[in-house]
Amino acid sequence: HRSKLPQVATSIFSVMSALANEHGAINLSQGFPNFKSDQKLIDFVNLAMNSGHNQYAPMAGNMELRRAISKKFELVYGSSYHPETEITVTAGATQAIYTIISAFIHPHDEVIIFKPAYDCYEPAVQINGGKTIAIQMHGANYAINWDEVASKISAKTKLIIINTPHNPSGTVLSENDMQKLQALTAGTDILVLSDEVYEHMVFDNLKHQSACLFPDLKARSFIVASFGKTFHNTGWKLGYCCAPKALMSEFQKVHQFNVFSVNSAMQKGLADYLKTPSHYLDLAHFYQEKRDYFLQLIKDSRFSGTPAAGTYFQVLDYTNISEESDVSFAKKITIKNGLAAIPMSVFNIGNKDHKVLRFCFAKTNETLKKAAAILNQL
Ligand code: PMP
Ligand code: GLN
Repeated sequence: HRSKLPQVATSIFSVMSALANEHGAINLSQGFPNFKSDQKLIDFVNLAMNSGHNQYAPMAGNMELRRAISKKFELVYGSSYHPETEITVTAGATQAIYTIISAFIHPHDEVIIFKPAYDCYEPAVQINGGKTIAIQMHGANYAINWDEVASKISAKTKLIIINTPHNPSGTVLSENDMQKLQALTAGTDILVLSDEVYEHMVFDNLKHQSACLFPDLKARSFIVASFGKTFHNTGWKLGYCCAPKALMSEFQKVHQFNVFSVNSAMQKGLADYLKTPSHYLDLAHFYQEKRDYFLQLIKDSRFSGTPAAGTYFQVLDYTNISEESDVSFAKKITIKNGLAAIPMSVFNIGNKDHKVLRFCFAKTNETLKKAAAILNQL
């Protein structure tokens, strides 16, 4: 058979987690917490199962959950999405992203993405016959040069994918970035996919710049979110997608045949849990403390880096330690020193000699302490 994705190999997250397991290494590579979800949420899900939420949920998702998501948008962003027509609950952000791209990308359409980029965008575009136009982010702050973006927009541009807070760099887009994007797309038919899975992990009193805060952007945007990130249960694979009605109706045409509907009991449990805003509003403080704890522990190490502005990832430069490529350095410290991280070059276009690793700090303080002890010896 002829592969539809000839360049695609096993994802770096699977590769590094497998290597960490094989060598009994501390795993700060793949992004997932090593502590439990709140017991209250687990109790809500158990209650939902015991009270009969075990058959197909409605195609777009449990209605109570959609209402709770809609209320959350109003509370956090002062922006409204109608629960009946503008919100769909998905099998994680990954399925939402794949479904948006499948619903809107025709062969030869162009999709602008920014590198380093999370790994699921490009294959979804390719498999639908589209072409990704990759633009490198610049410098230690991974800044976007919007003039460069303007020069890459063409009549074929169908979609621009942004991600803030940004995986893997831990940077965030500013209000000015969002305004530039809004101005660039004004008067065009270009759609925007705004991957906001780390929306509640923004630090140092910065504000998350959701696409829904900018009216002209909101009108052309899909916002994608993930309960796995927000409630410490990445394995549940639940998230959601919001967009204006006309866009959401096209999305749902694909969603209903792609998965039809997602886990019913967990949706009901999440609906109950989401009714208490502190359950997500406290997350920034929680992860800022973890970031600061980790950085404090390694302050005398030979690694260097700007503190993450958002996400649960910290990128660290190892120029002072080794000349090796980041892929071989990451593998070496996993095998020899017992600590796994993600090499940044796998998400890049250029910068192959960029000596940077990504560390996930969504870990217990005990794990962070053990990891730091290893980093301090390198
Ligand atoms: N987008 C980004 C930027 C992510 O980091 C992740 C999770 N690693 C996803 C999407 C996918 O989220 P989910 O696990 O909910 O599918
Ligand atoms: N989003 C996670 C990360 O960036 C990985 C998810 C996955 O393994 N696909 O580490």
